[in-house]
Amino acid sequence: MVHIMKRMHNKKRLVVSSKKLEEVFLSAATGLIVTDRRGVVTMLNPEALRLLGYPAREIIGKSAFERLAMEGREGKKAEKQPLKIALMTGKRFKQSHPNRLYYRKKSGDTFPVALTAAPIVRKKKIIGAVVLFADISELSKKDDEKDEFISFVAHQLNTPLAIIGLNTELMLRGTGGRLTKDQKKFLTDTLEASKRMAKLVRDLLNVSKIELGTIAADIGEVEPREASETVLAEFRDIINKKKLSIERKYDTNLPHLLVDKKLLNIIIENLVSNALKYTPSGGRVTVGLKRKGSYLLITVEDTGVGIPKRAEKKVFDKLYRADNAREMDGEGTGLGLYIVQSFLVRAKGKIWFTSRLGKGTTFYVEVPIHQ
Ligand code: ADP
Repeated sequence: MVHIMKRMHNKKRLVVSSKKLEEVFLSAATGLIVTDRRGVVTMLNPEALRLLGYPAREIIGKSAFERLAMEGREGKKAEKQPLKIALMTGKRFKQSHPNRLYYRKKSGDTFPVALTAAPIVRKKKIIGAVVLFADISELSKKDDEKDEFISFVAHQLNTPLAIIGLNTELMLRGTGGRLTKDQKKFLTDTLEASKRMAKLVRDLLNVSKIELGTIAADIGEVEPREASETVLAEFRDIINKKKLSIERKYDTNLPHLLVDKKLLNIIIENLVSNALKYTPSGGRVTVGLKRKGSYLLITVEDTGVGIPKRAEKKVFDKLYRADNAREMDGEGTGLGLYIVQSFLVRAKGKIWFTSRLGKGTTFYVEVPIHQ
C-alpha cells in the first residue's frame, strides 16, 4: 500500500514538474538545445539563442551539425563533435576543459563552452539528443593567463640553467683546473640535476604551448639517424651508470624528413628517456628507425618494468604516472607522453605501444615524411 501511494505521489510530482519544466527551460541560465535523431534542432531555450546570437527561426529545423558545428581553438577543427557522439553511440559526452570546444555566433565570433551532450532514449532507441552548454570565456581567460605565466617563468629559468649546465661541464672537463675525486662527483651530480631541470623547463614550455594552442611548426629537413644519435649521446652518462646496452636497428637509406625541426627530438628524447628510466640496471634498450610507405616508423623497445594493464589507457594523460613507475623513479612528471602525443596529433602522426609487465615495453611512432 505504501508502495502504491509512493508511486502515485511520484506521478503527481511528475505532472507538476512537466509544467515546471517549461519554466525551467525558458529561464535557465544555461544554453539548452534539443535535436531529433538526425541532429535537426527541434527546441532551444532563450539563453541558447542569446549566447549564439541567432533568432529562433534561423536555427529551429536546421541541422545542428551545419549551423552549430563545434570548433576548436582559433577556428581549428574540433577534436570531437559531442552531439554526434551522443547520437551515434548513445553515450553521454562531457567537456569542461577551458579551451577545447567553441561555438560560433551568428556575428562570426566564437566563444569557449563547457557542455554535456546526452542522448534522449525511448524504448531503447535513440530518438534525439539534448545539449546543455555554458559560455566559459572568463574561465578560459584565467586558464590562458596561468599558461602564459608558466611560459614566462620557464623562459626566465632557461638562461641561468644553461649557465649552470655549461659551467659545470667546463669544470668537469678540467678547464678550471684539476679536480679531486669528490669534486668530480659533486659536479657530476650537479650536471645531472641541471639536465633534469632543463628538461622540466622544456616540458613546461611545451605544455603551455599545447594548452595555449601556440605550437608553431618550424618546418625543416631532419635526418632521423642524426636525431636519434644526438639524443643517445645526451643520455650517455645515465646509460653508463646503469650499464644498459643500447642496440640500434636503423634501416639503410632512411629518408630525410620535412617536418617540424623539434618534432623528432621531442619524440625520441621522451621515449628513450622513459626506456632508460624504467629499465633496471643491466637491461637493453633498442632504438629502431624504418621507412614505412610515406611514414617513418620509430620504435623504442626496452626490457623494463612494463606498463600495468590498468594504466594502459592513461599513460598519455597529462601528469599521469603508473605506480610501478613512481616506485622506480621519484622525479618523473607525467608530462612526456602527453607532449609527444599532442605534437604528433598536430603533425598527423600516430603513437601506440605494447607492453608486458615485468618484461618490457615497445613504443611505436609513425611520423609522416612530409608534414
Ligand atoms: P614520466 O616518465 O615523467 O612519468 P611520461 O608521460 O613520459 O611521464 O610517462 C607516463 C607514464 O607512462 C610513466 O609514469 C609510466 O607509468 C609509463 N611509461 C612510459 N614509458 C614507459 C616505459 N618505457 N616502461 C614502463 N612504463 C612507462
